Amino acid sequence: MNLWQCDVPGCKITASGTGGAIGLRAIGWYFLPGPVIRCPAHRPDSIPCIGDPRTTDDSVRGQPCSQCQADIEAVIIQHAIKDHWEDLLAFSAARRLVPKGDSHG
Ligand SMILES: [Zn+2]
Ligand SMILES: [Zn+2]
Repeated sequence: MNLWQCDVPGCKITASGTGGAIGLRAIGWYFLPGPVIRCPAHRPDSIPCIGDPRTTDDSVRGQPCSQCQADIEAVIIQHAIKDHWEDLLAFSAARRLVPKGDSHG
């Protein structure tokens, strides 16, 4: 079980799960090796808001929105996991089996 906390000072949002970074990204979090970890609201790669026309305020739509980017990425990653979960697990396991300093890997 991993516990993740947003990098932004003062942000107390956390997420926990067993899926590692890919699991984190599947729920809309931003992750880069380093690591850089941001909750969906603090993603640095916001896009123009495409929120639900029935519920999203006109003044908000089209404005930079981290949550919309989070929603889009979550859908993409969830599809990837659904379709290729076995491949991802095999890849992850193979990476762990490669000894440190082994140049054959
Ligand atoms: Zn945050
Ligand atoms: Zn939005």
